[in-house]
Amino acid sequence: MRFVYNSVLRWRTDAFFKEQQAVGYTQASARLTAIKTLPETAFLNEVSSVPLQQCLRHQQAAFKSFFEGRAKYPAFKSKKHRQSAEFTRSAFRYRDGTLFLAKCDEPLAIRWSRPLPCEPSTVTISKDCAGRYFVSCLCEFEPEALPVTPKTIGIDLGLKDLFVTSEGERVGNPRHTARYAARLAKAQRRLSRKTLGSKNRAKARLKVTRIHAKIADCRTDRLHKLSRRLINENQVVCIESLAVKNLIRNPRLSKAIADAGWGEFVRQLEYKGGWAGRQVVGIDRWYPSSKRCSRCGNTVASLPMQIRSWTCPECGTAHDRDVNAAVNIKAAGLAVLALGENVSGIGQVPLSCSR
Ligand SMILES: [Zn+2]
Repeated sequence: MRFVYNSVLRWRTDAFFKEQQAVGYTQASARLTAIKTLPETAFLNEVSSVPLQQCLRHQQAAFKSFFEGRAKYPAFKSKKHRQSAEFTRSAFRYRDGTLFLAKCDEPLAIRWSRPLPCEPSTVTISKDCAGRYFVSCLCEFEPEALPVTPKTIGIDLGLKDLFVTSEGERVGNPRHTARYAARLAKAQRRLSRKTLGSKNRAKARLKVTRIHAKIADCRTDRLHKLSRRLINENQVVCIESLAVKNLIRNPRLSKAIADAGWGEFVRQLEYKGGWAGRQVVGIDRWYPSSKRCSRCGNTVASLPMQIRSWTCPECGTAHDRDVNAAVNIKAAGLAVLALGENVSGIGQVPLSCSR
């Protein structure tokens, strides 16, 4: 795949710079056929032609983005990065949980993460930079809405706790990076001592990427479990919409935020909510959720970050900072749903209203 992509890309680049010729998909595809007849690249005939053509289609899309000014010039694919091959319907067969690829006699030995809802329309085989193989199947299905529940919840995202709910539940943030930091540092030190381009360096690099992959897996697994639980239990989930990208630019906070995975968490809540017929409501992050007393509505002038609990000067209610914020977020979210839009000029933006 990479070989075809890169050799056709080189050929296209030459045509573009030497002869000022733009090459279309048809010519690129003809070029592929020509390459396949050469004796030194005869191995290309041993695999299905579909993923080879598919990668040229992706290259075509990359060129289109470039010519329309949306992207940089297409780059060569590196052996070190994620590799993938895309099989469209004519190039695979799926029967009762077994997957056969074209030009392969044996079915793929797959450990399924879940049963497929139907026959897939596209199958992508990929190898990540940690050397692990994955099969992803594109399936179209009708999502089944969960039975309606009367429960609603507000969520305040944080760093020390991943989130605090309006019911007072705290879900801790197990800083996965910190747990693996020592192992990662050791692996990286070893890598830095290896000679450039050597076999041992490649092995050491694989070790480093394996630890990175492990950290990422722990994180997404946990986020999936948490988002699943919130969506199953609640009809409406109100959450602060985050400008995560802006926050990540703050170098002091960025590592902790990337570790917490807020963006991914909100994404999961949204799509799972959409499938289950639940509502996920985003509240503008400039809404003073922390500084407002959730009991009487009084807003205090300032509430420095280090103050974790406070007492409202108006009504005397003692507040936990995060729980109070979560209760306010829930109230604001419900107001958004009831009124449709702007509440008292604060300007709340729903992340999505899927139903
Ligand atoms: Zn109050």
